[in-house]
Amino acid sequence: MSRVVIIGGGITGLSAVWALRQSPHPPEIVLLEAGERLGGCIYTEHFNGFLMEHGPDVFLARKPEAEQLCKALGLSLQKPNEKQRGAYLRRGRELYPVPEGMSGLVPGRIRPLLRSPLISIQGKLRILAELLIPPKADGADESVADFFSRRFGREAFLNLIEPLLGGLAGGHAQELSVKALLPHIVNIESRYGSILLGMDRTSVQHPTVSLLSLPDGLSSIIHALVAGNEDRICTGHRAKDITRTDTDWKISIEGHASLSATHVILAVPAWSAADIIRTAVQELSELLRQVPYHAGTMVHLAYRRTDLSRPLNGYGHLVAASPGTSVAACTWSGNKLAGRAPDGHLLFRLYLRTTKLTDSAVLAQACAEMHQALGITSDPQFTRVYRFPRALPQYTIGHLERIRKIRQILDSHSGLHLAGNYLDGVGIPDCIRSGTHAAQKILSGKS
Ligand SMILES: Cc1cc2nc3c(=O)[nH]c(=O)nc-3n(C[C@H](O)[C@H](O)[C@H](O)COP(=O)(O)OP(=O)(O)OC[C@H]3O[C@@H](n4cnc5c(N)ncnc54)[C@H](O)[C@@H]3O)c2cc1C
Repeated sequence: MSRVVIIGGGITGLSAVWALRQSPHPPEIVLLEAGERLGGCIYTEHFNGFLMEHGPDVFLARKPEAEQLCKALGLSLQKPNEKQRGAYLRRGRELYPVPEGMSGLVPGRIRPLLRSPLISIQGKLRILAELLIPPKADGADESVADFFSRRFGREAFLNLIEPLLGGLAGGHAQELSVKALLPHIVNIESRYGSILLGMDRTSVQHPTVSLLSLPDGLSSIIHALVAGNEDRICTGHRAKDITRTDTDWKISIEGHASLSATHVILAVPAWSAADIIRTAVQELSELLRQVPYHAGTMVHLAYRRTDLSRPLNGYGHLVAASPGTSVAACTWSGNKLAGRAPDGHLLFRLYLRTTKLTDSAVLAQACAEMHQALGITSDPQFTRVYRFPRALPQYTIGHLERIRKIRQILDSHSGLHLAGNYLDGVGIPDCIRSGTHAAQKILSGKS
């Protein structure tokens, strides 16, 4: 009987287990997770009536895989608080509303842009010119910065789109590939000639991006995927490397006996996959190692409601990159999703663009941000600091070509599968699709 070893117990690896187990004749499955906790980036903490998401807090409804999986697992979904919709950009001590109709980074409606105090008259005239600017003819990839500056002008890019990018995807707009990060927007440009026109005419047009979560936090998906599979999952098992034998793959595990498998799914970050296959498929390892990763720190600050003297209406605010602070975004967690803070309390979640600061420096920056943006001067009731040194892959220019080569090499190594957030999207739905796809390929007998 065939055995499938899945390396990595994040949402990708656990989705692969789930998909394999849907078969009427599932293979033997073993999942190896290096840490003691399952879920990888997905990590919900409950404390004294507060619910803190150290990693993701929502997923996109537009991509159906996460919603479908939750329903199949019998989990009820949670919508963000409709009455609190909207986000802000902080400039100095002022919070300016992000214009309505932004779909992620992409301006979708003209009027709110023309009313926004974030952009000058000249900048607004330049935005209107977007309707007339011809699409890029050569089909070559370009950076997110060049794409948006070309279409909407430099001012709209710097004052609006770049700060949104910092809060949503991280990374440097000058390095990120628009074709890899926003393929549907590149298609709209070539099809309609204008993003504003295309957004208006296509189903991509949403008043705002539609988001979903779970009432008990996103770790509920992880717990539901693990339930019933405990005897197939080995935490504290770090895969060291894999090698090809005449018939199988052999997986060496730190401090444990090695395992053999007919199929191996590497559901780990690209840098870890590169380490694991460095001797088996060196050229694949080299390509995987080229995928850059972004580092960031998540901070939670809890306050009493009375510590805030102004009304709080919205999901949070973003901060343009500026000297003296590494804060990129602040989610007003209690406003965005019900059940994040007990009555009479507030919970904020800040994302810093670095992992290099000490805890006290992180907290000093986070508290200074709360003071500047919301006028809060009290000390928080409690805090949490959680670092992600290499969690989010960056889809830089050349990414699509790199992934094409990776897949080409993989085709000649039967039984070896890659899945994860560096391939076809970083979001939770993308990871579920990636893990499921690897499992279905095995079940179909195509590899
Ligand atoms: C701060 C942050 C915020 C995010 N926000 C959102 C959001 O709001 N919405 C959204 O959709 N997405 C969001 N994402 C992205 C999304 O959470 C991730 O892309 C996704 O969870 C990655 O899942 P994964 O299973 O592919 O990888 P991971 O979660 O990285 O899991 C990989 C697992 O493999 C294990 N591992 C690594 N090497 C080995 C080895 N050698 N042997 C055994 N195990 C190993 C690791 O310990 C880890 O548990 C966010 C990500 C971060 C970091």
